[in-house]
Amino acid sequence: MRVGFLTTITLLFLLPAISVVGQSRTENVVLITLDGMRWQEIFQGADKDILHDKRFVEDAADADSQYWDNDPIKRREKLLPFIWGTIAKEGQIYGNRSLGNKVNVRNKFRFSYPGYNELLTGFPDKRIKSNAKRNNPNQTVLEFLNKKMEYKDKVAAFASWDVFHYILNQQRSGVHVNAGNDTLGAQKLSARERFLNQLHKTSPSPWSSTRYDKITHQYASEYFANSKPKFLLIAYGETDEYAHGGHYLSYLKSANKTDAYIQEVWNWIQSDEQYRDKTTLVITTDHGRGNGRKSWRSHGVLQKGSNHTWFMIMGPDTQALGEMKEKQHYYNNQLAKTIVGFLNLEYPVHGSYGGVIATAMEH
Ligand SMILES: [Zn+2]
Repeated sequence: MRVGFLTTITLLFLLPAISVVGQSRTENVVLITLDGMRWQEIFQGADKDILHDKRFVEDAADADSQYWDNDPIKRREKLLPFIWGTIAKEGQIYGNRSLGNKVNVRNKFRFSYPGYNELLTGFPDKRIKSNAKRNNPNQTVLEFLNKKMEYKDKVAAFASWDVFHYILNQQRSGVHVNAGNDTLGAQKLSARERFLNQLHKTSPSPWSSTRYDKITHQYASEYFANSKPKFLLIAYGETDEYAHGGHYLSYLKSANKTDAYIQEVWNWIQSDEQYRDKTTLVITTDHGRGNGRKSWRSHGVLQKGSNHTWFMIMGPDTQALGEMKEKQHYYNNQLAKTIVGFLNLEYPVHGSYGGVIATAMEH
């Protein structure tokens, strides 16, 4: 009896530690963001009203043939075949508000820099209230990891938007950041790297601060293969740019293309010994957008719904629960602590840090 009692007590002390830290199989994390991608298209596919509005789509018949289906399930699979074909089967997808499963940003501003700060540091900061190129006073998950012996120089970010140099405070953090107009560095370049630099220089995007996502994706691909990071952020930016421009079909095409990029990333992971079954993939966005034809293009305090987001997780420590259907409320500021938890580390405590997303970490 005495032994049984002591064993029970010991187990009670051990259990919480086992379920949160210490048992995780994740050794690497790849975090992917789609700037300003709405939850509506993630869960319901193309929006009929916007798709059939001449201001946003010139050729409705062409758009229909690519992305329309009366069945919302088939419609979302048409738009995001990898997400709904694989992540929905092997991972977890949060944020379908029509089922009562909600994800929000906590920050009041509902645009990019405040959103990425919240996501990457774990808390909203009211000092971060513009997209200006100012160095982040806060430490992101990337900087936190880059300070650890095990992760030093194994942390990298590839971003289409050039403000990432500042969001990640490249100067102070020493994190490898390639964003905006950056090409690949001065070290000896392979023929493919030289080709990518050439492609980048000869494919200027129409936007002042954002390059085409294909450049970001290909640079990230090269880095992943050659430098083997343990933490990689790939921040795609086209969805937000096309939405602001009112180009709905381009917004959908970009989301569809990014879905294929994510599939490629998963293939890199599963075909490499360092990563296979040891890597957690986290995908999310920095903010939502307004609703319907009137305000889908914009986001911010004035556009209702701009704080509505989503995220998905797939990896060796995440059960295959698919689309999350429980009436629950989650926040983007929980992801920083969750990511660090996957890596068996404790994130420094701060009053307004979001807690770990426990459902994503239960075996
Ligand atoms: Zn925007």
